[in-house]
Amino acid sequence: MGILEVKGVNKRFGGLQALGDVNLSIAENTVHAIIGPNGAGKSTLLNVLVGKLVPDSGSVMFDGQSVLGRQPYEINQMGISRVFQTPEIFADLTVFENVMIPCFAKRDGAFRLHAIGSTRHETDIHETAEAILMDVNMLEKRHMVASSLSRGDKRRLEMAMCLVQEPRLLLLDEPTAGMARADTNNTIDLLKEIKAKRDITMAIIEHDMHVVFSLAERITVLAQGTPLVEETPENIKGHPKVREAYLGE
Ligand code: ADP
Ligand code: MG
Repeated sequence: MGILEVKGVNKRFGGLQALGDVNLSIAENTVHAIIGPNGAGKSTLLNVLVGKLVPDSGSVMFDGQSVLGRQPYEINQMGISRVFQTPEIFADLTVFENVMIPCFAKRDGAFRLHAIGSTRHETDIHETAEAILMDVNMLEKRHMVASSLSRGDKRRLEMAMCLVQEPRLLLLDEPTAGMARADTNNTIDLLKEIKAKRDITMAIIEHDMHVVFSLAERITVLAQGTPLVEETPENIKGHPKVREAYLGE
């Protein structure tokens, strides 16, 4: 049994079958990539996993509990966090303040921007925030205002804001989209560092095969809303079904 078990998931948008009988099992503490041509249903699947979309049928179990019918914040509290394509940070707050906000969100079920001023006695949250900043190599930048960070550091901060909630499953939707090669390589290194330091499962949607092959232990190929192949990176290269799916891209 994987930490995430998706069974028979279907999702239609009007006449379009965006997901058709999706089965997917993600093993705990692995990095699992979901690849596929544009329009294959990757983002739709991710939106189902985080509770932003409700499938027409099927089941989604996380650590033995159903995520279906739950609000996104409840799914987040269960241990699933999502990293967005563009960093979603609070530009006017410091690095440390940014990292503390999701700690409150996890504990109290809501972002509490106004709580930031009254956190002097929140020792637990301070310790958690510091530990995370250490893991992403940003502890020495904790008093910097987020807007003054480099793009790479903004990405690190955003990752810290996710990790501070201590997710067991981290979902990444094209984490290197639009990045230059150097930033892409930094992101690969960052994800490897995180993986080495924490028990965490990662599901990555990614177009860049360099990223996929650098990180993934398992790869699921989605085409027209249905998983075609699930394999190791070695076995996916040159797989006839995969070549077929990408033909015409
Ligand atoms: P991918 O992320 O693999 O590129 P998506 O999951 O975004 O694919 O989209 C899968 C299909 O569903 C596409 O044909 C897309 O146009 C369609 N689609 C996605 N979201 C919606 C929506 N909210 N309403 C209607 N069609 C949608
Ligand atoms: Mg997408």
